Amino acid sequence: MGVTSQLLELYRVDQQLRGLTGRLKTAEAYLAEQDKLLGAIKSKHDAMALQLKQLEAAAHNDETEAKGLDLRIEKLRERMNNAQTSKEHSALTTEIANLKADKGLIEERALASMSKVQEFRTQLGALDAEKAEREKVREIAKRDRDERQKEIQGRLDELNAERTAKCHGIPADAMKHYTQRLNSGAEEIMAPLQEEDRRNMEYTCGGCYTMLPIELVSVLLKRGDLTRCPSCKVILYMEASLKDDISNSHEKKKSAGASKSAGKSGTGKGSKKKTVPSDE
Ligand SMILES: [Zn+2]
Repeated sequence: MGVTSQLLELYRVDQQLRGLTGRLKTAEAYLAEQDKLLGAIKSKHDAMALQLKQLEAAAHNDETEAKGLDLRIEKLRERMNNAQTSKEHSALTTEIANLKADKGLIEERALASMSKVQEFRTQLGALDAEKAEREKVREIAKRDRDERQKEIQGRLDELNAERTAKCHGIPADAMKHYTQRLNSGAEEIMAPLQEEDRRNMEYTCGGCYTMLPIELVSVLLKRGDLTRCPSCKVILYMEASLKDDISNSHEKKKSAGASKSAGKSGTGKGSKKKTVPSDE
């Protein structure tokens, strides 16, 4: 069996594998997307929870500080009531007024903190709800992925075993080209030759429709060495039915030619008439 035929058999298995795992891959991508969205919600939630903690601590500090000032003002009032001189009385009045002004500022700050705390708590609540919703979606996505995995596992094992068997005996160099193509993310790994005009040996690449050099067609028709499209690099093969057709018509031509070898040389247009070359 030529290398191209070996690769084609492997390719047929890989196509089945691709078809089989397509739905699973979609499910996996969807699950990964849910994980990503959930992760984003969680980190937003964590950052906001940390900020909330800091705000709550600041508000608490302000409250403690305001209470401390209250106590000091209380004590100063007592001293003021017992003041011996008017000078002492007026000094204490000023100090109390200053402390009251300080306390007012602190209370204002605490109030602002508290309103921010409230705002953050509301936002965190919304994030909690969003997270719970997303977790539900993720759970469904995971179940779907697991089910698909379970559904195809048996057939997947079979195909993988078949694949291993098909790989056996393929020359390393050909295998390397094939694997490179497979991993390149290209839509087509292999493509059939398209016959445009048999008489003039015109064949195009089934991947990109570029006209192929006749030597290349000849190689595929005979030895079946690894052949790649010069343009799109797809690995080319010739469908068995086409190969048989060409061989048969070639045989017919040969026998027809032999029977009237004494007559005119063929019936073709002449200038471009060409048969399959006997060798590369
Ligand atoms: Zn091509």
